[in-house]
Amino acid sequence: MSILDIKNLHVTIDDKAIVNGLNLTIKTGEIHVIMGPNGAGKSTLAAAIMGHPSYQVTDGVVMLDNVNLLELDVDERAKAGMFLAVQYPSEIPGVTNASFMRSAINARRAENDKISVRDFITKLNEKMALLEMPQEMAERYLNEGFSGGEKKRNEILQCLMIEPTFAMLDEIDSGLDIDALKVVAKGINALRGEDFGALIITHYQRLLDYIHPDYVHIMADGRIVQSGKAELAKQLEAQGYKNIIDNANKPI
Ligand code: ADP
Ligand code: MG
Ligand code: MG
Repeated sequence: MSILDIKNLHVTIDDKAIVNGLNLTIKTGEIHVIMGPNGAGKSTLAAAIMGHPSYQVTDGVVMLDNVNLLELDVDERAKAGMFLAVQYPSEIPGVTNASFMRSAINARRAENDKISVRDFITKLNEKMALLEMPQEMAERYLNEGFSGGEKKRNEILQCLMIEPTFAMLDEIDSGLDIDALKVVAKGINALRGEDFGALIITHYQRLLDYIHPDYVHIMADGRIVQSGKAELAKQLEAQGYKNIIDNANKPI
């Protein structure tokens, strides 16, 4: 079992405090969901954990087992087992989707254990079939000309291929029609397992009709203000963020 332990994390952007002392522990085998109003700092949290250079961590630690991720470069964090599916995946002309994934898989493997072309293609075909993706998408340049829905599906494909220990999926369900949402959920459910943990950031309870998280957290003003089981998302849908956040902030 692996543990991702975020302790007292503070993140600033251009000296503005965005994440303010956030604590969260995720174990492999678990799926956690973070919900929260726009501007709560959800994307900032994920980007800072992955090591995006625009985000300055001013305090706290992010331990992946015995390693403080904050001391590693971005590529070393990926190698250590972290994966981030961003809200707006960028286009990388000149790099095919397949070659990107093969490099990413091999970056996590020892020199004498690289994936063979044959095993890679077998695995790729299997995962693309699961996600109902046409095979030609593997040979296209990364995200170039992909529709919004194709980009989201492709992020899940990368995750299925790379098999990270912990994946952070930022608004993986935004802008999807119901059929695409179901396919993305099917991919996430296929990732589930003893050796995998996830942090899913979403605005919509509807994703949780298809993925059953172990924990739901509400984030506001750069902190987690309430944590619960899947029912918390239902409560949120019924009551709205404001009620829940106000109640969470009330002194006892
Ligand atoms: P969420 O994902 O919860 O909607 P974000 O983490 O994207 O929230 O943003 C949190 C706050 O940080 C917002 O006030 C946003 O305007 C600000 N912010 C995010 N990214 C940047 C950036 N690159 N430069 C300046 N401000 C930013
Ligand atoms: Mg947002
Ligand atoms: Mg966001």
